Amino acid sequence: MRAMVLSGRGALQLREVPVPRPAAGQVLVRVRACGVCRTDLHVVDGELPHPKPEVVPGHEIVGEVDGRRVGVPWLGWTCGVCAFCKSGRENLCALARFTGYQLDGGYAEYAVADERYCFALPERYGDAEAAPLLCAGLIGHRALRMAGDARRIGFYGFGAAAHLIAQVAVLEGREVYAFTRAGDAQAQQFARDLGARWAGSSLEAPPELLDAAIIFAPVGALVPAALKAVDKGGVVVCAGIHMSDIPSFPYRLLWGERVVRSVANLTRRDGEEFLALAARSPLHTRVQQFPLEQANEALAALREGRITGAAVLVP
Ligand SMILES: [Zn+2]
Ligand SMILES: [Zn+2]
Repeated sequence: MRAMVLSGRGALQLREVPVPRPAAGQVLVRVRACGVCRTDLHVVDGELPHPKPEVVPGHEIVGEVDGRRVGVPWLGWTCGVCAFCKSGRENLCALARFTGYQLDGGYAEYAVADERYCFALPERYGDAEAAPLLCAGLIGHRALRMAGDARRIGFYGFGAAAHLIAQVAVLEGREVYAFTRAGDAQAQQFARDLGARWAGSSLEAPPELLDAAIIFAPVGALVPAALKAVDKGGVVVCAGIHMSDIPSFPYRLLWGERVVRSVANLTRRDGEEFLALAARSPLHTRVQQFPLEQANEALAALREGRITGAAVLVP
């Protein structure tokens, strides 16, 4: 099969490799589409420690097992017996293994996956349209839950995750405020088209104080910026797996019972909840498709902010 393989850092290489053989409990998935997530950029750039050598990235896999459509997410395996696993927090399992990082992922024609961690996908979405649901959607959903019942909610970074979760927030009757890179008029218009009440640059203050903010961009300087934008009692949720260092800031930005927290990975329950929601509600998933061989081009476009919505590879 063809696969895009990471050896060392930097670019992926197109290789012909054997089709993987499923072990006990695993299924062989014929990949129909695989989303390109910012986490893949962090893997390729060496910002996440100890990836599997020669890993195939990709953890938003839409594929087929014996004619049945399945989704394979980031969470690929957990121990099932530790205190985290036993208390509904398998996302924090120290032994967890992740797709496209410690396990080969979906930048290939085939992948293997542990059957217990695969999801059924709502039929209303095509293969490429369903791919971003599997991480951008799931992690965004978990981050939105961490924001509690915030009415006014800000999104820093309006990419794959924010474009899906903004729609969920609007459906739930919340007010969405979108913060993009300065001068990115296209992303700001895109946010308004999806129901944002206000869209501007992350350097600007919103017209009103927010109840919560979710930071999807991997930029630590956004943490104090978001704290300034939230009202007393507000929550700032960092939804990415990697972020540049957070600059020091005066305590008064945190004072007033403001909270800063991160969201790590996902549980299978998050996936089931979010995919049920996506089955009930017609979310518009905007995708830009690339052939599998152009994975490096897709990653470069994501890095440079040239993707509106989500990039998806198609073998
Ligand atoms: Zn565990
Ligand atoms: Zn992801």
